[in-house]
Amino acid sequence: MSEKSKKIGAYDKEFIWHPFTQMKEYEEKEPVIIEDAEGSYLIDSEGKKYIDGVSSLWVNVHGHKVPEIDNAIKEQVEKLSHSTLLGVTNAPASELAKELIDICPEGLKKVFYSGDGASAVEVALKMAFQYWQHKGKSEKIKFLCLDNGYHGDTLGAVSVGGIDIFHKTFGPLLFETFKAPSYYCYRCPLNKTFPSCELACADELGTILKNNNKEIAAVVFEPYVQAAGGMIVSPEGYLTKVREYCDKYDVLMILDEVATGFGRTGKMFACEHESVTPDILVLGKGMTGGYLPLSATITTQEIYDEFLGNYDEFKTFFHGHSYAGNPLSCAAAKGNLKVFENNNSLEELKYKIEYLEEELKEFEGLEHVGNVRNKGFMVGIELVEDKISKREFDPSLKMGWKVADKAMEDEVLIRPLGNVVVLMPPIGISMDDLKKLVNVTYKSIKEVTEES
Ligand code: PMP
Repeated sequence: MSEKSKKIGAYDKEFIWHPFTQMKEYEEKEPVIIEDAEGSYLIDSEGKKYIDGVSSLWVNVHGHKVPEIDNAIKEQVEKLSHSTLLGVTNAPASELAKELIDICPEGLKKVFYSGDGASAVEVALKMAFQYWQHKGKSEKIKFLCLDNGYHGDTLGAVSVGGIDIFHKTFGPLLFETFKAPSYYCYRCPLNKTFPSCELACADELGTILKNNNKEIAAVVFEPYVQAAGGMIVSPEGYLTKVREYCDKYDVLMILDEVATGFGRTGKMFACEHESVTPDILVLGKGMTGGYLPLSATITTQEIYDEFLGNYDEFKTFFHGHSYAGNPLSCAAAKGNLKVFENNNSLEELKYKIEYLEEELKEFEGLEHVGNVRNKGFMVGIELVEDKISKREFDPSLKMGWKVADKAMEDEVLIRPLGNVVVLMPPIGISMDDLKKLVNVTYKSIKEVTEES
């Protein structure tokens, strides 16, 4: 190891507290220092190349060093790196807003920028809340969310989350919500089976709305894939049914597409699979192609109009982040959208998804794979100790991590969610690299679980 790498490793251990990381364990290992990247590969300080199997935590879209995005940032940095969006505007923010509205589901009209997914979720919650206050329905102050949901780590986002291991500790700090069951077919919380269940989980949500709609401002959930909850994929029709319930009971629908947006599920946005338009759409992660932080809360004219008034009516949406609409981030996002067009990415993706789904069938034959699920390029492979009873591996065995560690030996970087092995490669990945990712993952699962 070079002197420089030794120094970086030492500084890292001494000074950085890593997110979602048990630092006691981290400190015992030599850190991997990512120094360079190319296409779907990350390259460490020792020159080892890894396939970026989870898109650098679900953000990267077309790969690394994408000329359109690189150039967009370089050109913008020569002009303006930052100026506030409070009361003034800038070209990339304004042009990007138009481009986003052009590709968003029909009916969404206004873009509110923030820096990260959690902030954009906070914006959605506060907007929905304030909207009803302005409408004179001041009792509509609660939210209905799903078990297993994840919307980020700020306290509002955690309040509408439903993953005990991340969220329970903060219970006393959170606001109360209504919780509907997760659309987790493999471990159906209602003990039913799709399709004979006729989407009973959506009906449970409908019943909560029926009984409590006077106090509920909005339903908030991740359409099609509960990502951090374990890549749980919703059955077809769920989204449509929830939209119908929201309309019936006069409750707003907030869709969090921070993870599912920008092609990840096979369409630009997951809600397009069922032609559903939410009242508020939340975007983040892949918006800049995985280059820079940027998120957006996108809403309808109807919601926007409720905030209009004279200054002293104080109907203003008093919320804003310092880097909202940052020109460099917005330029990167425009570059990202250009790549979608230039590379015909969504069309190309269809073939890759077909291949991936064919390969994933093989995983089902493995002794300790209980469930393989995917929506497009979002894949969850749930490992179980016993396939028949679906008994989980004890968390202390860290099965998901053992598989990830094994894959790393073969130069594939993945990050599990508990016992769920996650694959979410950049949609721009080449067929050869996709094959390698799948093959290494298969081999790693087989070796690790069949040893146990
Ligand atoms: N919503 C969803 C669905 C997410 O998956 C995430 C992040 N994994 C967030 C919100 C939060 O985004 P960020 O990490 O950018 O705050």
